[in-house]
Amino acid sequence: MTRLALVGFPSDDNSSWMRGAAAAPPLIREALWCPSSNAWSESGIEIARDRIHDAGDVLDERGTDNLARIEVSIESLLGSGYTPISLGGDHSITFPIIRAFAKTFAPLTILHFDAHPDIYDEFEGNRLSHACPFARIMEEKLVSRLVQVGIRTANAHQRAQAARFGVEMIEMKDLRRVAALRFDTPVYVSFDLDALDPAFAPGVAHREPGGLSTREALDVIAAVDAPIVGADVVELNPSQDVSGMTAMVAAKLVKEIAGRMLAGRD
Ligand code: MN
Ligand code: MN
Repeated sequence: MTRLALVGFPSDDNSSWMRGAAAAPPLIREALWCPSSNAWSESGIEIARDRIHDAGDVLDERGTDNLARIEVSIESLLGSGYTPISLGGDHSITFPIIRAFAKTFAPLTILHFDAHPDIYDEFEGNRLSHACPFARIMEEKLVSRLVQVGIRTANAHQRAQAARFGVEMIEMKDLRRVAALRFDTPVYVSFDLDALDPAFAPGVAHREPGGLSTREALDVIAAVDAPIVGADVVELNPSQDVSGMTAMVAAKLVKEIAGRMLAGRD
């Protein structure tokens, strides 16, 4: 039986432009269980509250290695047989999460939704910046394949990095290419909410016009033709949100990803 776990990583220490993402996890939970909607995913699976173990938030503690704490938390959930869905926090949390996944899943593909490639070698002197996690993941060869969807800010350095690491970058301007995506390994979904157009998800630090609609993103997730074994939803910045609408989008993504994780499994 597939058992899902929710875990929050309220960390924005590695954000470059604006803090605030640390406040997101409780708001995503609140939107997920809000009685304005029901618990059924579009794939026909009920995401009842008792089907998801809530592992709570793994809080930052001053003077500790937060990335190591994230890695240990995910390793522990995987070791207990859970399929974890992580709530950010900024995107730097994905590096330690994938470090833990790599110990259980090889080969593994990451399906990464983002306006940004997040593959800088370093950003403003910080190699653990939320602008860098996929460079660290690829350097350590933690996954066999990285597919990026929604990119619309790639500069020369990031294009060179993508070529160096063999990243499959589906830029927003070439979105029709998603129709040809096929997966032959388990898939981990990493969803940065700024992949979406700010019209759909204004509550992010780095608003980048010209992005995915919520519908387009859901359709890409629904079409994944391999098991989804883990996911994160990151970069909700409640200080930028409008009437909680981006928190609701984040919760919808969690619900639909959970539905895909459970579909076809007992
Ligand atoms: Mn981004
Ligand atoms: Mn990102």
